[in-house]
Amino acid sequence: MTNQHDTQKHRIDAARTATKLVRGGTKRSLFNETSEAIFMNSGFVYDSAEQAAGRFKGENDGFIYSRYANPTLTMFEERMILLEGAEAARGTASGMAAVNAALLSQLKTGDHVVAAKALFGSCLYIIETILPRFGIDITLVDGTDIDQWKQAITQKTASVFFETPSNPTLDLVDIAAVSDIAHAAGAKVIIDNVFATPILQKPLELGADIVVYSATKHIDGQGRCLGGIVLADEEFVEETLAPFLKHTGPALSPFNAWNMLKGLETLELRVDRQCDNAEKIADFLGDHPAVKRVIYPGREDHPQAALAKQQMSRGSTLISVEIDGNQQTTFDVLNRLSIIDISNNLGDAKSLITHPSTTTHSSVDDETKAELGISESLLRLSVGLEDVNDLIDDLGYALSKQST
Ligand SMILES: *Cc1c(COP(=O)(O)O)cnc(C)c1O
Repeated sequence: MTNQHDTQKHRIDAARTATKLVRGGTKRSLFNETSEAIFMNSGFVYDSAEQAAGRFKGENDGFIYSRYANPTLTMFEERMILLEGAEAARGTASGMAAVNAALLSQLKTGDHVVAAKALFGSCLYIIETILPRFGIDITLVDGTDIDQWKQAITQKTASVFFETPSNPTLDLVDIAAVSDIAHAAGAKVIIDNVFATPILQKPLELGADIVVYSATKHIDGQGRCLGGIVLADEEFVEETLAPFLKHTGPALSPFNAWNMLKGLETLELRVDRQCDNAEKIADFLGDHPAVKRVIYPGREDHPQAALAKQQMSRGSTLISVEIDGNQQTTFDVLNRLSIIDISNNLGDAKSLITHPSTTTHSSVDDETKAELGISESLLRLSVGLEDVNDLIDDLGYALSKQST
């Protein structure tokens, strides 16, 4: 039985993305179920006291406790490892638990961290507020400006952190260029790849060391549960990350890990369709008289269109758009939508739209908002799986009132 499983595993390791997404990591129990089983248990039993003692010493393989590892979680991690091309991974209870663990598991007092300014609000909180409390120096840079990275990264820099595309202005950071600068200084590069998804961008191939996801977004993709994952080389995961997670406890629930596994089966199909829809919507918005500016990495008018082509296979499932008007006219557009929901989540089958300035980035001060381009008329649209013509009609109706 072990041999048969090993042969199958070998074939899937060498398979193409769609096959890996459906079959990667699957381990059947003695009941030979088709779909992955949910091992909804906290602990495991041993055949003997000797076996228990041996397991704790690491002398025999097997599970000990679901805070350390769980079979459903392991299946999710192995499928993600295959998709990302990483050596190892650990799932976490949320995307923020993944970001926090990727940073805090390796940092210590006296270290220096360089990060891009344009970050998801909670990522910015960890870097700007939590890290300095432990005597970690931080420098925030404009992630689009390579010279700023060059100046900020020194021999003292332990970690470099950024998102690309960033939230909500969809700025890009040149992963290969920043990785080269960081590696020359001996720093590790951590990328929050949520906006690009593992389908559209492969940070490890471009030079990054560690990739984190909020699996809550496209990986679940159907608004059901929170989850996260950190992927990297074996040494970092086993020696640095795993002990940190095991002893601090942000474990992913087996039920949520199962949802993520099922989400992965359709991830490529969903992301592809969402990109098809997003491209059409971005063009519709780009031509609309009530729109001041559309920001979409897949369009030629994106300020970093060349970099987008270089490191992303498509333009993303997200669009940001600046309405020609003030906060009230922008709210009016939101309030007239009837299909697209007002929600701060993203990567969902349902199209969701948010006003970052008063929601996801409401805690950011006005000066920083202005610097980041988060104006009172900026909206971020996460494009879903509805018929694109219905989405365009919905946006067209909401915007048409605006332009009269
Ligand atoms: C949502 C998100 C997170 C946090 O993930 P949770 O699962 O909500 O904890 C981190 N980074 C980015 C870019 C996100 O979009």
